[in-house]
Amino acid sequence: MKLATDPQVELAQHIARLRTERKAILLAHNYQLPEIQDIADFIGDSLELSRRAAAIEEAEVIVFCGVWFMAETAKLLSPQRTVLIPDPQAGCPMCDMAPVEEVRKRKAELPGVPVVAYVNTTADVKAEADICCTSANAVKIVNSLPNPRVLFLPDKNLGLWVQRHTEKEVLLWPGYCPTHQRILAPQVKRLKAQHPDAVVVVHPECTPDVIDLADEVLSTGQMLRWARESPARSVIVGTELGIIHRLEKENPEKTFYQISKLTVCPNMKRITLEKVLWALEDMHFRVEVPEGIAVPARRAIEQMLEVV
Ligand code: SF4
Repeated sequence: MKLATDPQVELAQHIARLRTERKAILLAHNYQLPEIQDIADFIGDSLELSRRAAAIEEAEVIVFCGVWFMAETAKLLSPQRTVLIPDPQAGCPMCDMAPVEEVRKRKAELPGVPVVAYVNTTADVKAEADICCTSANAVKIVNSLPNPRVLFLPDKNLGLWVQRHTEKEVLLWPGYCPTHQRILAPQVKRLKAQHPDAVVVVHPECTPDVIDLADEVLSTGQMLRWARESPARSVIVGTELGIIHRLEKENPEKTFYQISKLTVCPNMKRITLEKVLWALEDMHFRVEVPEGIAVPARRAIEQMLEVV
């Protein structure tokens, strides 16, 4: 009897063949679906993916499995390569909360105040910034600036986290991540009561009342490193639930509790194996950034990479 092939295995085989033909590399964010993470050449957080995109030598094509601003950042740092995003609708609502016209207006009201743009911004907003940051390095970046005040955008929660660790005045932007906003303090308290030995680890995009309950506040890359090195056997995790796949894969002897089943970023989940295959077959959807925006946006990212 002939066994039917698992459709996911078959798709992964087609992708592997095309990846070689196209000389492509697959970069995936830690929030991607498990099956995407499993076929990626490199998985990481925004900072790790930016560094990887800048250092790529071996590939002609980058297939970016993440959301639009991340693919744009890869194109800024690797302009000579073709960068494809399998679904151009994979946006970020937090990015959309800082439209470039409003950023320009606010900048004009604050002469002499540097703009620190979280990487979760569109390229045209990065082009308005003095320097970029990620959740892993936001405190370090703000503290590296000589000015007593900074405009931090678009995430008010990350900005408030930075404010706890700097003497500078952090002027906030009213943006937030809808996925992390769904993590609620009463849920954390309930889980802590159920698992008193568990360590609470949350992302700095969480609200301040959730952060107050955490033992560690870490970016996704830092969480993965921390989980490998920490003696903790059980961990309550406060971030997008895609990270649980990698945490469990890398630490099979440990237990990870998701705070809420609702912490799913629907945009991250738009990337599927089928769409990766179609992207490689049709060489779509190409990410392009006009030169007038790319030059200043790249400078803001490179400024960040020089500090960290
Ligand atoms: S998890 Fe939040 S910040 Fe990240 S892409 Fe989704 S909406 Fe944007």
